[in-house]
Amino acid sequence: MASKDEVKQMLRTIERECLYTSGLTGIKKFQKRVMEAMVEVLREKFVPDHMKPFAYDNGPLPIGNGQTISQPYIVALMTDLLLPEQNDVILEVGAGSGYQAAILSKLVKQIYTIEIIPALAKQAQDRLTKLGLKNIEVCQGDGYYGLPQHGPFDGIIVTAAASHVPPLLIEQLKPGGRLVIPVGLPHSLQYLMLIEKDQKGEVTYREILAVAFVPLTGAGHG
Ligand code: SAM
Repeated sequence: MASKDEVKQMLRTIERECLYTSGLTGIKKFQKRVMEAMVEVLREKFVPDHMKPFAYDNGPLPIGNGQTISQPYIVALMTDLLLPEQNDVILEVGAGSGYQAAILSKLVKQIYTIEIIPALAKQAQDRLTKLGLKNIEVCQGDGYYGLPQHGPFDGIIVTAAASHVPPLLIEQLKPGGRLVIPVGLPHSLQYLMLIEKDQKGEVTYREILAVAFVPLTGAGHG
């Protein structure tokens, strides 16, 4: 079990990194409810047993199948950028361990998360069900195409780096919606982008921060 000190330390590190990067992100402090969700969801529940001693370190950790659970600061930043609201329906591409979806489950009405690796999709669904998080549905498939049957969405978060912004994800965003996505090639410069669709359907793009993500595979690869 996590000690309160470990979780507190993780929060302090996130707050410090938020401040260091505020010149780039424009964010000096993450929303209170986002930070509360980061406390409520115990990261140790989402990492393999041999990684539990490192669960509250501010770094990515391996989760098997060559994939990772993202760094806590990045999870907090991406969640904050979405501006999640209580009645939102959100799509996540890249369920991985299920951690990001679990954080969002505390902040919005419903999350659909899609994972391309069948073993990870099953593991994430089993874990989230066991944790009693009923407002998350894990789907297996290629998130490049989104999930049109459940859209349009108030927000979309992509947790693997795409070579370009998938057009169908923009299509599946509601007017007023936000898409947070790392864009760039593997082992090369990637930027976390915030894409906003206004009420008239006009789309604007903003580079937030240089990041390093595992690649989006499937149709969005390369
Ligand atoms: N959000 C995850 C979490 O909280 O643990 C971390 C995601 S990990 C950095 C990226 C995930 O995206 C991997 O599990 C990977 O298999 C998945 N992925 C890569 N390409 C995908 C695609 N085209 N569709 C759906 N999932 C994809």
